[in-house]
Amino acid sequence: MFEKKMPDLFKTIAFRLTLWYAGIFSVSSCVAFALFYLLATQTLQEQTDRDLLEKARYFSTVIQGNGLMGASKLAVIEAQAAGEKKIFFRLLYPSGEVFASSHMSYWKDIRVDQTAINTLLQTKGHLFTTWFKKPDDQKVRVLYSFVAVNVILQTGIAMDFESKFIAAFKTVFMVAMGFIIIFSAVSGLFLARKALSGVKAITRTANSITGTNLEKRVPETGNQDELDLLAITFNRMLDRIEALVKGIREMSDNIAHDLKSPLTRIRGFAEIALVNTDDLDHYRAMAANTIEESDRLLDMINTMLVISKAEAGEGEFLYKSVDLSALVQEACDLFVPVAEDKGIEFTYEVSEPVQIKADARMLQRAFSNLLDNALKYTPNKGRVHVDLQRDSHDFVKIRVTDTGPGIASVYLEKIFERFFRAESSRTTPGTGLGLSFARTVARQHKGDLMVASKLGKGSVFSMRLPYRNF
Ligand code: ADP
Repeated sequence: MFEKKMPDLFKTIAFRLTLWYAGIFSVSSCVAFALFYLLATQTLQEQTDRDLLEKARYFSTVIQGNGLMGASKLAVIEAQAAGEKKIFFRLLYPSGEVFASSHMSYWKDIRVDQTAINTLLQTKGHLFTTWFKKPDDQKVRVLYSFVAVNVILQTGIAMDFESKFIAAFKTVFMVAMGFIIIFSAVSGLFLARKALSGVKAITRTANSITGTNLEKRVPETGNQDELDLLAITFNRMLDRIEALVKGIREMSDNIAHDLKSPLTRIRGFAEIALVNTDDLDHYRAMAANTIEESDRLLDMINTMLVISKAEAGEGEFLYKSVDLSALVQEACDLFVPVAEDKGIEFTYEVSEPVQIKADARMLQRAFSNLLDNALKYTPNKGRVHVDLQRDSHDFVKIRVTDTGPGIASVYLEKIFERFFRAESSRTTPGTGLGLSFARTVARQHKGDLMVASKLGKGSVFSMRLPYRNF
């Protein structure tokens, strides 16, 4: 019995797929969040910059209308209106000297940046800098801009909304990521399990199959997806294994049966010899019978060995140049007395010499099997005819035609299997190895043995052999 082991969870494909799924989902979400964060902070900063520039333009207009005094007052009023911790204004000369400002006690650590002013003097436009105000590193966006000839406005705005946004974003990010990881792991596990359920079905079926129970099959979904194709392939493989096991079983049953009869007979002869102790002739007859049966057994075993070896590609065939016509003629001559004994009309027409490379001994045995069958199964007053023809340019065909009982179409291929004997032939002596041997020999010569038959009318066995088989 197979030991059923629970798979180690961490080694399962479902677990690894889930991990990948959750990982990819989480990384993609992080990238999406990061992009959103960058875009949002950039937009916020751009909006702040636009607001500061707007203020600078306002100051410029006021200076044009009301002079520097007006601008000084505006600095105080604007800061008070927006909140003195929110925004500040400083009006400076290009030397960096401050001549007016809003209330600066909150902003005192933000000084005038002389480098920024020098850059501004060169570009004559405006310049933004970013500060982190002590003690809590509050982000401050600062604008330097000319608002009149020789008058620079330094204005800064606390970007506390950005800090609030980041804090809110962090909370949303943590909660959303937690949810995304759990969701992707659960859905990943679900999807992986669903995708692999077919594999489980195959494993279950494979586990439930034993030597005596080969009928089970994996359910095929018909989806034509990878798992369905795997199930189909697996089922076809089981079909083949089942057919092979069935064949082996049938063959071993047949072997047992075919060995049993001659052995029983041999035993019988020995027993009779034991009982009749005084008659020497009787002893001799029993010994002769025993030898005959033993020879039949040996012959059967040898034939089996030749077939097995040839099928395994280890055939010990000795190829020489052979005149096929002469070989067929000789074999037919040998069977003339048998045909006469049975009252069968036996004719053969063998044309001009046909030279091929063959193992004459094997070919003769194979051909004799065909003749033996034809004469064995054809009843009295029947006809058996043999002819040899060049079939096509490269092949020669030997045909044995009889007017015997014929073979049912269901058995047409089976008769070439080892030990197969049709039910109707059981009363006739035989081993069931003759046709199997003949076909093996034909195939070893790169030819084949075929049959055509009509039940009640007769059969035609055709052995095709190539001329230039080597
Ligand atoms: P065997 O003749 O010893 O039984 P074979 O392998 O030669 O074994 O033949 C297998 C089976 O094929 C036979 O048992 C018989 O049923 C059938 N068969 C062979 N040749 C003929 C034939 N000429 N006419 C009818 N049946 C045949």
